[in-house]
Amino acid sequence: MEPAPLEPLSEDWSTALCVVAHPDDLEFGAAAAIARWTGQGKSVVYCMVTSGEAGIDGLHPDESRTVREAEQVESARIVGVDEVEFLGLPDGIVEYGVPLRRVIAEVVRRHRPEIVITGNFRDTFGGRNLNQADHIAVGRAVLDAVRDAGNRWIFPEQLTDGLEPWGGVTAVWAANSPESAHGVDTTDSFDAGVESLKAHAAYIDGLGWENWDPAEFLEGFARATGQRLGVAFGAAFEVFPMGWGD
Ligand SMILES: [Zn+2]
Repeated sequence: MEPAPLEPLSEDWSTALCVVAHPDDLEFGAAAAIARWTGQGKSVVYCMVTSGEAGIDGLHPDESRTVREAEQVESARIVGVDEVEFLGLPDGIVEYGVPLRRVIAEVVRRHRPEIVITGNFRDTFGGRNLNQADHIAVGRAVLDAVRDAGNRWIFPEQLTDGLEPWGGVTAVWAANSPESAHGVDTTDSFDAGVESLKAHAAYIDGLGWENWDPAEFLEGFARATGQRLGVAFGAAFEVFPMGWGD
C-alpha cells in the first residue's frame, strides 16, 4: 500500500517556538525544516525542557549537562536559531501535569509565537517500539500550555512585570508523528539538518552505535517523507489547530 500523500505545511507565519524534552530531539528530522524556515527570514526559538543530562551512560549528569547544552546551542546555530532556553527539569523523569504546563505556558507568554513546534508524543513512532516517557509528557503538556498561555486566569501569578496572556498560537506541530498528514520540503536544507545532528557529537558517541551515519539515517526518513510530498526530501508533522471548531 502506498503511504498517503502529505499536505504542505503553511508557511504564512513569522515566529515559532520549539519546545521539546531533550537536546537532540529536534535534530532527528525537524532541524532541516527549521533551517528552511530561518532561511526564509522566520524567527525560531528553542526551548529544552531538560538538558538531556541522563543521556550519556559514561558521563555523570553534572558533566553531561554542560556538554549537552553546548552541543544544543551549536546545533541550533547551524540551522539559524540564536536563542536556546533550558528549563532544567530532570531528564528521564519528566511528569505530565500542572507544574509542567505552568513552566511551558510561561515560555509561550514570553515569546508570543504564532507556531509552536514539539516532538512526536504519540505512543509509538509507527512501529512497535514505545515512545520515550519524557516525549509523551512534554508534547501533551505543550498542547495544554498553549491554551493555558492565552487564559489570564490560569497561572495568573505569571502576569507581572508586563507579561501578558498570549493566545496568538494558531497551531502546534508535532514532528515525526506517525499520524502526520502534513510535511515540508527539506531538499535544500537537508545538509544543514545533518550538520545540526552531527553537532551532538558527545551524545552520538555515547550511544555507542557502531558505524552509525547521521546523514544516512536522516536520509532514509527524509526520502520516504519527500516521496509523500512529491519532492526529494521532506519532514513530516502532525498539525493540531489551536482555534475552535476545527
Ligand atoms: Zn528525546
